[in-house]
Amino acid sequence: MSSALPSYQQAADIVAASAARLAPSRAAQVVEQVALGESAGRVLARALMADRDQPPFARSTRDGFACRAAEASAHEFLTIAGATRAGEAPGGPLPPHAAWEIMTGAPIPAGADAVVMVEHVETASGSVRLLPPRSASAGDNIVPQGAQARAGDELLAPGAAITFAQIALAAECGAPVLEVFRPPRVAILATGDELVPVEATPGPGQIRNSNAPMLAALVVAAGGAPWVLPAAADTADALDAALCQAATAEFLLISGGVSAGKFDLVEPALARLGAQFHFTGVRIQPGKPLVFGELPGLPFFGLPGNPVSSAVTFLLFGAPVLAALSGRQQHGPRFALARLAADTDRRAKPGLTRFLPASCTFSAGAGQLLPEVALIPWQGSGDLAALARSNCFLVIPEDTPTLEAGATVQILLP
Ligand code: AMP
Ligand code: MG
Repeated sequence: MSSALPSYQQAADIVAASAARLAPSRAAQVVEQVALGESAGRVLARALMADRDQPPFARSTRDGFACRAAEASAHEFLTIAGATRAGEAPGGPLPPHAAWEIMTGAPIPAGADAVVMVEHVETASGSVRLLPPRSASAGDNIVPQGAQARAGDELLAPGAAITFAQIALAAECGAPVLEVFRPPRVAILATGDELVPVEATPGPGQIRNSNAPMLAALVVAAGGAPWVLPAAADTADALDAALCQAATAEFLLISGGVSAGKFDLVEPALARLGAQFHFTGVRIQPGKPLVFGELPGLPFFGLPGNPVSSAVTFLLFGAPVLAALSGRQQHGPRFALARLAADTDRRAKPGLTRFLPASCTFSAGAGQLLPEVALIPWQGSGDLAALARSNCFLVIPEDTPTLEAGATVQILLP
């Protein structure tokens, strides 16, 4: 049976093709305005254009003296003809055989072609000279006007995910408000008779619904607006009612109820609503029972209920679809290379690509080209304490019994 399931790569290809097909046309997306300070995590709907040249004037990158490089390189004293601080209008023009005191960020006076650093000169009674053996070259310590961008240049295209850097760039361009796409509404439906809300005291055999808030956080990070529904019981009626309600969302995440057990009723409930299934199971661990499909106008994932399985399958497959729906250009998932700290000895199940909670130092030691990664000891895919101690997942390719210490390995980044 399991050999009929797609491999990780086959499932990833199916999801990537679906994400590309589901990505809404720009015209179909609702655009809203958001204050720059509130825009982190949103997706730009309109291109950001440079409102003026950047830098807007030729700018000194050092405290020092603006001069003509050829004159400074003769090491003769040059008369200090003036001074410009950051924030002042450009001074000058620079007279022949003169220098102009200048601060970092200040405009270069007309006629100067270089700045020599204050640390590299000697001054004497209103004049200054560059100390030998240093010489100056035209362009030293000056960023020319428009070197970074010309007025009217497109600096960010629609679909750019907004983080600190895009916010700073928009501020530089005088954009206190950004036009962004309205994030897709993502229904989150946990299923399971054993679940109680986080505020409730669990009775015998009950556990708290940790998947709903976890998935809500993952949805926000992937560009969606979470809509957490009350958990549904493991009955056909409860699932039918909950799915009906969830159907008004733009993307649906169900957790639990997709394994082969007697009370795993999610797949039949989706089928009753006319779902088309792209796959029902993937050769991965954790997360093998993952279901991916579409109701009319509503892509969905049935995530396995085990918390680590839910997280891994969302990162691998759910996040790329959500990123596409949100209008982002980049759809992930994100992988990187690392150096394995110790041999892995986890028992492999044949044919499964594994994604195991791991800790990566991200600070490569001296002479080390790659960050180091180590597996986190865990008690299986229900172990949330292990998940919380991890910051990535070690990828163990299918049919790889062990990876050896020092090997270059792939990690999945959250
Ligand atoms: P299932 O996929 O429904 O077979 O559930 C697999 C395991 O995950 C079981 O131990 C469930 O109790 C647990 N589980 C299912 N849903 C959740 C949830 N929302 N929060 C925490 N654990 C869950
Ligand atoms: Mg269940």
